[in-house]
Amino acid sequence: MTQKKEAKMSEKDLKYFENLLLEKRREIVASQNESESNNAFHAQNDQGGELAGYSNHLADAASDYTSQEINFDLAARGGKYLVYLEEALHRIKDGTFGICKVCKRLIPKARLEAVPTATKCVDCKEETKKREREDSRLEMARIFAEQQRRENKGKPH
Ligand SMILES: [Zn+2]
Repeated sequence: MTQKKEAKMSEKDLKYFENLLLEKRREIVASQNESESNNAFHAQNDQGGELAGYSNHLADAASDYTSQEINFDLAARGGKYLVYLEEALHRIKDGTFGICKVCKRLIPKARLEAVPTATKCVDCKEETKKREREDSRLEMARIFAEQQRRENKGKPH
């Protein structure tokens, strides 16, 4: 390992992935406009207060949030992906695109083609995912215990 220069993608590759990212962004913006007509979520989201009240409501009535929760989740994910795309485009401009932010090595092009918003190589991603899975397992267990507690309280003995 006598490499002195920092890992960096070639101009040609950066250009290629820039086009890929722009294409993805167009797709998402188009699909979001489509779903907006039958989804009032965005209007609601703009008035932050509504949503805050909604979460309080959530805590009180865990059972009647399902469909709205799903809408919320989808919208949040779509919006988040757009943010990721913007960030990736930004990384193309400053030349850090395609470099794992954990180990600083180049991310294989095949992986970037599949996931152009990737900021980590597979190894580092797996590490993060393992931690996230543990976090979400804890969260699920907490929610489940909370639900059990609520149900037991409601049941007459
Ligand atoms: Zn890495």
